[in-house]
Amino acid sequence: MKSQKSYQNEGKEAVLYLVPTPIGNLEDMTFRAVRILKEVAIIAAEDTRNTIKLCNHFEIDTPLMSYHEHNQLSAGAQIIDKLSNGLSVAIVSDAGMPGISDPGYEIANSALEAGYKVISLPGANAALTALISSGILPQPFYFFGFLDRNKGKKKRELEELKSKKETLIFYESPHRLKETIQKMSEVFGDRKITLARELTKKFEEYIRGSLNELKDWVSTEEIRGEFVIIVEGSNEIEILTKNEWWQGLSIEDHVNTYINREKLKPNEAIKQVAKDRDVQKREVYQKFHIEK
Ligand code: SAM
Repeated sequence: MKSQKSYQNEGKEAVLYLVPTPIGNLEDMTFRAVRILKEVAIIAAEDTRNTIKLCNHFEIDTPLMSYHEHNQLSAGAQIIDKLSNGLSVAIVSDAGMPGISDPGYEIANSALEAGYKVISLPGANAALTALISSGILPQPFYFFGFLDRNKGKKKRELEELKSKKETLIFYESPHRLKETIQKMSEVFGDRKITLARELTKKFEEYIRGSLNELKDWVSTEEIRGEFVIIVEGSNEIEILTKNEWWQGLSIEDHVNTYINREKLKPNEAIKQVAKDRDVQKREVYQKFHIEK
């Protein structure tokens, strides 16, 4: 167990900040995010060409380094090195929250293991922005992110999600949206679904309907832009069929089994049977002593 008091002077001084950036609308950058990006020694960015535009807009002149999926090991080591020299580092991705379908988790974990504070800032995120305006129950929810690109694996992933009661949240690229919606309709059947397209941008659009309706929509529309998919959870009632050894026995035989096999006294056996069957002891007593 480890406790981190984020804003008290204790432990190592350098901090790893996880800083969300806008998902399309620069106004969604927070004052605090700008201040932290100005204050840290270095910004580790998923794509420095994108982040430089953000920095120029907000007059942030902190040096940038590259930290992405393919250089995580070497760049991660450099970041830990900076921290060990007492320099705070901010992680940013191209859009939204680092660590959410974006790099961030591994470096946060390495920094924690090395004993540094890891502090995240609240801010823009496509999944939650889409969820709360989807018109689909926002809680409980299950964030999946991107399904596998491979069609067979995608189908298996959807089959595993089929019985989940939680509202499901997916990210999907425009090129795969049509095929994904068709697969969802095939595996989930008809359910409520909302597509949230180009959130916070000029062409933001919500398409709210049923999976059957949206299956038709994707086959006629030209699919462009970024999408979050929100799908209603399963409504199927779970039938719990526990296979208990005593199922099929009468109450009398059930009690007798405890008496003969477990050598319980009649009263103890009655108590146990009442517990097994989740009924009143009186009911078992009646059946065993009176009705036999
Ligand atoms: N880290 C980001 C976040 O916190 O939301 C997600 C990054 S992930 C690599 C990119 C995916 O997020 C896109 O393919 C799309 O599914 C979703 N996304 C990002 N921005 C979006 C937007 N403005 N509108 C709709 N979906 C968006």
